[in-house]
Amino acid sequence: MTRASPEHAPRSTPRATIRAASSASARPAGRFAELHLHLGGAVLPNILHAYLRRVDHPLLRRYPHVEMLERYFTRPRHSLDDYVNMHKVVERVQRLDSIPYFVQRLIRGAVLFDNLAYMELRHCPWFRTDASLPEEARLAQMDEVVGAITHASTNATDHYPLVFRQILCMHSTLSPTINRRIAELAKAHMPDVVAIDLAGPDRLYAGALADVLPLYKRARSRGLHTTAHLFETPQGSSRMVEKLLPHLDRIGHGIQIPLRRPTLLKAIARRKQCLEICPTSYVRTGTLTTGAALRSVFRKCFDAGAPVAICTDNSGMHSVRLPHEYESLLVNDIISFSEMAACHDASFRHAFAWSGPTPRL
Ligand SMILES: [Zn+2]
Repeated sequence: MTRASPEHAPRSTPRATIRAASSASARPAGRFAELHLHLGGAVLPNILHAYLRRVDHPLLRRYPHVEMLERYFTRPRHSLDDYVNMHKVVERVQRLDSIPYFVQRLIRGAVLFDNLAYMELRHCPWFRTDASLPEEARLAQMDEVVGAITHASTNATDHYPLVFRQILCMHSTLSPTINRRIAELAKAHMPDVVAIDLAGPDRLYAGALADVLPLYKRARSRGLHTTAHLFETPQGSSRMVEKLLPHLDRIGHGIQIPLRRPTLLKAIARRKQCLEICPTSYVRTGTLTTGAALRSVFRKCFDAGAPVAICTDNSGMHSVRLPHEYESLLVNDIISFSEMAACHDASFRHAFAWSGPTPRL
């Protein structure tokens, strides 16, 4: 496999010209904040396929044409487990040597085409380590993964102004030792890393919670922010996972709270916990049959005073960029313009590293 060289500028444009342009507008010019985006799902199929061709990757045998990769990613899934499996295809390609390629293109696209001013990118560093290494070596390599993303993002944001931070995901399929190390890594890499998250199949949450809960308490006491994929599906909405709620700054998804446990909304509003709602995701995971079902989710949150941010979850896999998520909610009358503006404002107010006013819509 050949090593990919990161590109930080279009080949046809002199670097000096780009530097001059970016230094003149160092503050992000975009209007949107993305609070829930996975590194594995942020990559557009054509960008991923170009990388596979560049290194003559074995996956090309399964997906010789980019259209086949697009079809694989956009096919609706029958369960969250099935959907989560999709990430494994991308994670095995995103390793230390390819991270600069993917992060540079992600940030370039976010600024030039997605109109973003702010991005929190979440990832589980364990799944980017070399699986052939023994566990202790993989634990150590997680540090390099986080560092590689920091390095690549620093280079990219020099040319494409964007406030960029990482969120490290613990995972319900991983051992307590690995999850503990991820939480420690998040602390060690502050302020490039701003928070910890919990991801993975939510049917495993009940077993993971006893180990993860103390990690959340400790992370908060050490100045890290917190979020977790919670109340995304009916099966992930048990009384057990409710114990995690008070320890979160934001709630990843949380749509089952207004749908099934609306009495919890009052406390969520009181604690000023923002729901990260990713409209396209629920149809793709099979959690909701139509986007229209979100109308009552938003209504109940607004009525209770619970803040809501609109996010994509996996914009590349879904082929739906953040501005389109907003537009789609508006033109389909899921939310009004003033409600959309409130969500837009919430996304900046609840961002873990945004300072200053919310950009005007
Ligand atoms: Zn997610």
